[in-house]
Amino acid sequence: MKDKGCSLNMLILMFMAMGHTSYGATEATNMPVSYALVFIMMLIILLVTIFKMHLKIKKLKAIKLELDDQNNILQYMASHDPITHLYNRGTMVEHIQKHLLMQEHKISYLYDIAITNLRLINDTYSHDIGNEVLKVVAKRLREAFDGPLETLGMDQMTFLAIESHTRSKEDAITRAYRLIEGLSEPIEVDYMEIDVLISVGISMAPDHSLDAKQLIKKANMALVESLNRGYKSVYYYEDTLYIDVIKRITLEKQLRRAIKLNEMVLYYQPKINLKTMKVDGCEALIRWHHPDGHVIYPNDFIPLAEDIGFIDDIGKWVVTESICQVKRWQSLGHNIRISINVSGKEFDDEFIEHIQQNIKIHNIDPSLLEVEITETAALKDLNHSRHLVQTLHDFGIRVSLDDFGTGYSSMTYIKQLKASKLKIDKSFIDDLDNMEQRIVIESMILLGKKLDYYINIEGVESKKQLMILKKLGVDEVQGWLFSKAILPEAFIEYVKVFDENGL
Ligand code: C2E
Ligand code: MG
Ligand code: MG
Repeated sequence: MKDKGCSLNMLILMFMAMGHTSYGATEATNMPVSYALVFIMMLIILLVTIFKMHLKIKKLKAIKLELDDQNNILQYMASHDPITHLYNRGTMVEHIQKHLLMQEHKISYLYDIAITNLRLINDTYSHDIGNEVLKVVAKRLREAFDGPLETLGMDQMTFLAIESHTRSKEDAITRAYRLIEGLSEPIEVDYMEIDVLISVGISMAPDHSLDAKQLIKKANMALVESLNRGYKSVYYYEDTLYIDVIKRITLEKQLRRAIKLNEMVLYYQPKINLKTMKVDGCEALIRWHHPDGHVIYPNDFIPLAEDIGFIDDIGKWVVTESICQVKRWQSLGHNIRISINVSGKEFDDEFIEHIQQNIKIHNIDPSLLEVEITETAALKDLNHSRHLVQTLHDFGIRVSLDDFGTGYSSMTYIKQLKASKLKIDKSFIDDLDNMEQRIVIESMILLGKKLDYYINIEGVESKKQLMILKKLGVDEVQGWLFSKAILPEAFIEYVKVFDENGL
């Protein structure tokens, strides 16, 4: 370009020089011809320059258009979900905020809609099929939410929809149930019919919040609660939910520190052998001595520990502490067997290894430790449980099936497990005056014994129950009639007194 500009300038100078020379030489005749020539040259140069500029502008315009296109694509990608093409999380927050501002404190309902079996679909089929399902559900949602006062988008794996047509909570809930119905129609992908399970959480503006992020958070809390209530359910946000979540978060933090701070304590409930009427071991029951002075019982924190994946730490601590307790009692001259409760979520090879290691380290007789696993947990994966029970037995540790009878399991499966003891649940002896209950418990004991099980009955509270159970040939009992779960020092005192004086 520069070169061309240069040569053009040279050309002009040349022509001007030519004009000047001819003017000097033939002044009278040539003067007008030279001027005309220069003028034409100048015109050509001007036209060429204009033409060049025009080309440049055209090129710049094309580049700008291209950039605009690229910019639009980038903007679209940044604001939309790549699979469903709905607004993505960030944009949805903005849109919901705009929606709320435009409604000026009028009622709006926000629906958080989840495909609860999406992960299963991804795992069972493939992510491609999962994406197809997402697309179809998004399309169905677009059809369901297409009014001027409605906005639809995605928040991570759930769909968010806000609308301002519905006038009451009941109507919003009904709309959500209708959505579930419509969205749950089986989806055909690659000649397969795929069932989708939908759950919905609802929050409402202005009551629950006028801030988009808060409103989404509350619809999401409602969704989590609706998932807890089963498939195809709807939950409408309530403030108690918020308080529950705050409490849970606080409890979770405290629970994670509880072991380090020595706040977990094992209590021991005696087990009585009905043949010898002596204490024959005990069950370790965990309690959390909370720093605020309360004792928290396992049913109030074990499920939380299971949810947050902290149950392994608790379980391992229970193993180590029980083995140390066996050792401490041994040093006082008492050989007392301790049975520990193991949650289904921690009953695995690693856990058993932990037991074996600790028994070796502390050098105790393995038969002084027993493991209790609930019938329901054990039968979730029969083959694996059978392998674990066998490993424990081979190592010399007996396994009991806790809360027996509450899981309605088939006796065939129970027998395959090859555990040693059945701990029949307290609920079966609550009303022994009732003939039907009497027949049920008699049959359970009979069948258990026929299958070579040692029979324990928990929750014995009265002498009458004790007498009946003795007659029915029960091997072992435990319950408040004898003692609640107590601290180790009190337990040793109890053993001494009971073994000497009886009940
Ligand atoms: P479980 O193993 O079936 O324990 C029996 C429960 O019944 C215990 O409640 C015990 O205190 C209570 N109990 C005993 N005798 C009587 C009685 O005569 N009447 C009545 N009404 N109740 C009686 P606890 O200690 O609250 O434990 C509840 C459950 O928590 C246990 O049921 C067990 O499944 C679980 N658990 C306890 N400790 C642990 C632990 O260290 N780890 C795990 N994973 N779970 C534990
Ligand atoms: Mg138990
Ligand atoms: Mg039990």
